[in-house]
Amino acid sequence: MTYHSNMNHICSFCKLECKKEPLDDYADYQDLPWYACDVCNVSYKKKLNIVEVTRFYAKLNDRRYCLNLIHKSQRTQIFRMACNTDEPPYTLILSLPYMVPNINPTNCQDKIITYITFS
Ligand SMILES: [Zn+2]
Repeated sequence: MTYHSNMNHICSFCKLECKKEPLDDYADYQDLPWYACDVCNVSYKKKLNIVEVTRFYAKLNDRRYCLNLIHKSQRTQIFRMACNTDEPPYTLILSLPYMVPNINPTNCQDKIITYITFS
């Protein structure tokens, strides 16, 4: 029997298995891979079996943004993502001292744009 529990991640929303992605330059979590759900367009970073970050995406004026729910410290960060290699991969737009409530793959576009627009 092969032990897989630390290698895969099941999406919280659709319950399908996520795809493991390469390491990136994200903040304090550079040593953890992302687990991406292509169905929901949500990504997760986890340490052992604990989800440290849940990430949602949005687009505005041809730019991509992401919202990270940081579970351990109960915070939210919104970043603008680089569109070319001349830019830093993530530019912090907004930091909130709480987790944005009730965000999901269906409403994340609207929620993220609202936070960006009214911050
Ligand atoms: Zn999913």
